[in-house]
Amino acid sequence: MFRPKCVKGGKSMYIVMLGAPGSGKGSAAKILAKETSLPHISTGDIFREQIKKETELGKLADSYISKGQLVPDEITINIVTDRLNCGDATNGVILDGFPRTLEQAKALDAILKEKGKEITLVPEIVISDQVIIERILNRATCSNKECGAIYNIKFKPPKVEGVCDICGSPLSIRADDNEETIKKRLDVYRQTSKMLIEYYKKNGVWTSIVPDDPTAGNASEQVVATILQLTK
Ligand code: AMP
Repeated sequence: MFRPKCVKGGKSMYIVMLGAPGSGKGSAAKILAKETSLPHISTGDIFREQIKKETELGKLADSYISKGQLVPDEITINIVTDRLNCGDATNGVILDGFPRTLEQAKALDAILKEKGKEITLVPEIVISDQVIIERILNRATCSNKECGAIYNIKFKPPKVEGVCDICGSPLSIRADDNEETIKKRLDVYRQTSKMLIEYYKKNGVWTSIVPDDPTAGNASEQVVATILQLTK
């Protein structure tokens, strides 16, 4: 059975990054994980890795992801539960792309409660659909999983075309980063995030972050600085 890998941990903090696909939550989550030495858990990354390896889970996940649909809760919750049971998650995690449904949010609270923990903050990155679509259509990601740096061919290009500045690996384009799938993914986000935002507002952990200039090369760093300020 598939078991996610554990990585080293640090300061105690359970953060749920919210934001539409292409809002920059993945980039901000990666920087935040580095700054806090907490594990970055991206369900999208976990699924993509399984798709690449052509595992049973990967094939199943791909049948939803390629259509811009959500992978069923039961599968996704089991993966995250396993990942949160890793020793490195005892001090906190940066969750990116999970939860995406109310059922996932409730399951997450139950898992954390069992461990005597709770969510620290749920920052939602808010940017316009127009910027999101432009960002996604220009997005390129380092193919080296250990690096995973995210570029924007227009707003934040690599120094050498198609090559990661940090590790020199080739950059790749996500299969679901096409105009048709983006619109579907944005629709799904709008429908599902409403309930999540209400839920986290009620729990007093939600906050919105509106980047001054979402197209700036350091927009993610600014988002992270705000989160660190709020969790001091
Ligand atoms: P992301 O990289 O977060 O944009 O995720 C890419 C795709 O993976 C999404 O469009 C969904 O199809 C699937 N996915 C990622 N996280 C979840 C989740 N928490 N629940 C259901 N599906 C997910």
